Amino acid sequence: MMRRCPLCHAQEPALYHQDRRRDYYQCATCALVFVPSEQHLTAAAEKAEYDQHQTRRRIRDIGAFWGVYLIR
Ligand SMILES: [Zn+2]
Repeated sequence: MMRRCPLCHAQEPALYHQDRRRDYYQCATCALVFVPSEQHLTAAAEKAEYDQHQTRRRIRDIGAFWGVYLIR
C-alpha cells in the first residue's frame, strides 16, 4: 500500500518511530510526523483510554487528599 503524507500528500514517508501499538512516519517534504489512518484508535478505544486516564486522575486526587500516593 502506498503511504502518503496526510498534510502535503508527498509519497513514501520514512518510518520515524514504533511503539507497542503504532507506527509513526515522517514526511520528507513537510516533516510532519503522523500515524497511518489504519492505526488510528477507534472512537470506542479512544474513549476507553480517556476513561482510564480520568480514573487514574481521580485515584491520584483522592490519594493527595489523604496524603498518600496510591499511583505514581
Ligand atoms: Zn508532508
